[in-house]
Amino acid sequence: TKARIGVAGLAVMGRNLARNLARHGHTVALYNRTPTRTRALVEEYGHEGAFVPADDPAAFVASLERPRRVVIMVKAGQSTDAVIEEFAALLDQGDMIVDGGNAHFEDTRRREAALRERGIHFVGAGISGGEEGALNGPSIMPGGSAESYVFLGPLLEDIAAKAADGSPCCAHIGPDGAGHFVKMVHNGIEYADMQLIAEAYDLLRHVAGYRPDEIAGIFRTWNTGRLDSYLIEITAEVLAHTDAATGQPFVDVVADRAEQKGTGRWTVQTALDLGVPVSGIAEAVFARSLSGHAGLRQAARSLPGPSGGALPPESGGFAAQVEQALYASKVVSYAQGWNMIDAAAVEYGWDIDPGAVAAIWRGGCIIRAAFLDRIRAAFAADPALPTLLADKEFAAEVGGAQEDWRAVVGTAVARGVPAPGFSAALAYYDALRAERLPAALTQGQRDYFGAHTYRRTDREGSFHTLWGGGREERPTG
Ligand code: NDP
Repeated sequence: TKARIGVAGLAVMGRNLARNLARHGHTVALYNRTPTRTRALVEEYGHEGAFVPADDPAAFVASLERPRRVVIMVKAGQSTDAVIEEFAALLDQGDMIVDGGNAHFEDTRRREAALRERGIHFVGAGISGGEEGALNGPSIMPGGSAESYVFLGPLLEDIAAKAADGSPCCAHIGPDGAGHFVKMVHNGIEYADMQLIAEAYDLLRHVAGYRPDEIAGIFRTWNTGRLDSYLIEITAEVLAHTDAATGQPFVDVVADRAEQKGTGRWTVQTALDLGVPVSGIAEAVFARSLSGHAGLRQAARSLPGPSGGALPPESGGFAAQVEQALYASKVVSYAQGWNMIDAAAVEYGWDIDPGAVAAIWRGGCIIRAAFLDRIRAAFAADPALPTLLADKEFAAEVGGAQEDWRAVVGTAVARGVPAPGFSAALAYYDALRAERLPAALTQGQRDYFGAHTYRRTDREGSFHTLWGGGREERPTG
C-alpha cells in the first residue's frame, strides 16, 4: 500500500509529527538524510502505526499516493532550500510540499512563488507546541493555496490539538506566507506574555516581598480566573521548584539572562516595516537583550535607585492590583498582535480571518488559554473590529483595570523595579484614548527644520509656514 503522507527530516519535530500521523491511522512514508534516524524511528515506534521507511528521496516519493504530500521538518534556512529542491525535482504537478519548520514568511513567499511556477503546491505551515505538541497535537497554521488545503486540511486537522469545544486547532490561514507570518506573530505574543508574567513576579517579589513559593500560589489562584493559561500554569511550576543541589528556589540559581532564537525579533522587525506599533512585543525582545548585556549591567550597577526597602507583605491587595495590570497589559499586546496580522493581510493581499486565528490558538500552542476563546468571540461579533480594545467586553475589563494598572506602574517607578511591558502597554492605552497627541508638535518641528508641511484641524490641504521669514503660512497642496 502507498503512504498517505510522507515526513522528511526525522529529528525531534519530524519524528513526533510522523508518530502523531501514524497514531491517527495514516500510513506515513519516512525519510531522513542520515538513515540511522529513520531506522531508529521504525525500531522504537514501529508498533504505533504503519510506516514506510525509505533510504533515498526517490524511493520515498515513489511510496506516496497521489497527489503526493511531502512534509519537510528540517533545519530552517539553506537546508530547507536544499531539501525542497531535492524533492521538487522528483514531484509532479499537483503534488505538495509542506514546510513545517520555523521559516521566515518572506522565505516562504519566495519558495511558494518558485514552486507555483513548476505546478507544485508549497505550503508554509507554522507549527506550535514544541516536541510535545508535535506528538500529541500541535496548533497548525498552514498557508499556501486553498486547493492544497483541500488535500491537506483533513490530515492536519486530524493530528492537531482540539479546543475545548472539540474543534481542531488548525485552519487554512491564507495564501503563500500567511501561515508562517501568523506563526511568527504567535511567537511575538508569546514573548510579550512571558515578559508581562516576569514583571508581575518581579513586583510581587521585590515590592511586596513575597517568596517564590508564595508567588507560585498567587499564580495558581490567577490560573483559575481570566488569566487561565498554559504559561501561567508553568510559571507556578517553575516558581515552586527547589534546586536540588543548593536547596534554594530554582529561580534564584538560574542566571538572569534570557536567550532568544529570533522569532520575536522577526516580529518586531516586520512590525517596523509594516508601521504597526507592537510596543509590548518590542519591550519583551529588548528586555531579553538587555538581560544579556553583562558589561552594560556591570557598568551601571552602582547607579542610585530610590531609597526604602520592600513594602511589608500585604493582605493580597497589591497582588490583586498586579493581576489587573497583567491582564490589561496582556489585552494590549494581543490587540497589537492582531493589528499586525491585519496590516500584513492588507500589504500582502491575504484574506485572514482574525477570529479563526484566535480559535486555532486555543489549544496546542504555547499561548493556549481560555482568553483566546474570548478573542474569537470578539471577532465573531465584529469581524472588522479595529482593535481588541474597542470590543465591548475587553473595553469594560481594561477600563475597570486601569486605576490599578496605573497604581502598579506608579509603584514600579517609585520602587525602581523595571516594568517596561506594563508601562509601555499603559502608554499605548493612554495614547490611543488621547483627545490630542503631541504629534502635532512633532509635525510642527518637522515643518520648521525640513519644510515637511502639515495638515490643519480646521481646513483641508497641506501647509508650510515660512519659519525663517515672516512666518506666513503657504498652502502647498
Ligand atoms: P533541526 O532543526 O535540528 O534539524 C535537524 C533535521 O534537519 C535532521 O533531520 C537533519 O538531517 C535535517 N537536515 C539538516 N540539514 C539538512 C540538509 N542539508 N539536507 C537534508 N536534511 C537536513 O530539527 P528539529 O526537529 O528540532 O526542528 C525541525 C524544524 O522545526 C526546524 O525548522 C525548527 O526550527 C522547527 N522547530 C519547531 C518547533 C516548534 O515548536 N514549532 C520546535 C523545534 C523546532 P540529519 O539527521 O541527516 O542531520
